[in-house]
Amino acid sequence: MGSRHEKEKAVNVQVLLRCRPFNEDELRNNAPQVVTCNDYQREVSVTQTIAGKQFDRVFTFDKVFGPSAKQRDLYDQAVVPIVNEVLEGFNCTIFAYGQTGTGKTYTMEGECRKAKSGPKGQLPADAGVIPRAVKQIFDTLESQNAEYSVKVTFLELYNEEITDLLAPEELSKITLEDKQKKPLPLMEDGKGGVLVRGLEEEIVTSADEIFSLLERGSAKRRTAETLLNKQSSRSHSLFSITIHIKEATPEGEELIKCGKLNLVDLAGSENISRSGARDGRAREAGEINKSLLTLGRVITALVEHLGHVPYRDSKLTRLLRDSLGGRTKTCIIATVSPSVHCLEETLSTLDYAHRAK
Ligand code: ADP
Ligand code: MG
Repeated sequence: MGSRHEKEKAVNVQVLLRCRPFNEDELRNNAPQVVTCNDYQREVSVTQTIAGKQFDRVFTFDKVFGPSAKQRDLYDQAVVPIVNEVLEGFNCTIFAYGQTGTGKTYTMEGECRKAKSGPKGQLPADAGVIPRAVKQIFDTLESQNAEYSVKVTFLELYNEEITDLLAPEELSKITLEDKQKKPLPLMEDGKGGVLVRGLEEEIVTSADEIFSLLERGSAKRRTAETLLNKQSSRSHSLFSITIHIKEATPEGEELIKCGKLNLVDLAGSENISRSGARDGRAREAGEINKSLLTLGRVITALVEHLGHVPYRDSKLTRLLRDSLGGRTKTCIIATVSPSVHCLEETLSTLDYAHRAK
């Protein structure tokens, strides 16, 4: 146990579990509850009935957030320390992983759109990780007496192709052809990193500006989705905030700290399993599998200290290469539904997330 704990610390991968409340449909249909969370024990138990007999499988995570946990609880307990690392000049990544409809986007974005309108810089209670992180970053930077700059990018990965969610084209002019012809290329930058050629990098000077960008990006994601008949459940979105802070050492030298925070809303985990391959979308399903499966392998390789980490095997892991492993912090938020109707996917999410520990 002791050595395992040290190992976890050394690789800095934290796995959290969040179970959403029953939704209206589930309540109306009296859906039986099969997931029980014990936030204090950090345990989740899943009740299965096999051949008329009930038995429980229990999983332990670094933190567990049951249906009554609020956005703020999750943020304060799990994300604040990560954003502090970023402000100290490290790269960190937070993933939301789970079946479609279990709260990935709610957890990451929540109510961003209302973020601007709250009383005096207050965020709405439903604001998710992204607006809260943005607020923490600007609150900290503005309270310090240092020069800084903040840049954001927001992209979508669909079918292993990259689309810029901040590109300033008019939404009404997005056509099927445009989108299919113009995925942005991912290239090596010659310094061991990668860059997305043509990706819009917005320099922002206040939290409010980021909120409007986020709104624009999310609107574009939705418009493209309708226009192209695609499903957001099959795409990954990556919102990155890069911070440069100029500091003077006591000796009067200048020091630049650079930290990056990646916030990833992953494709629905059901895409990893049977669903896609059957319906004639084998290629698409395969490509979605590629990023999700590779991410799982990369994290396993990091946690188990395997020599080879297969970053190169998918676009998502290539994009995140400088922010996974080494002196970075990674946090996976696995999301599940409490209902019996999701039992199978819930177990597969718990297994995937548990392997990452
Ligand atoms: P996903 O992105 O995983 O497909 P969503 O974030 O869109 O799922 O969530 C599905 C629905 O459930 C949304 O209407 C969302 O507002 C609601 N929801 C998800 N998680 C919670 C939660 N923890 N508390 C309240 N509502 C939630
Ligand atoms: Mg979503």
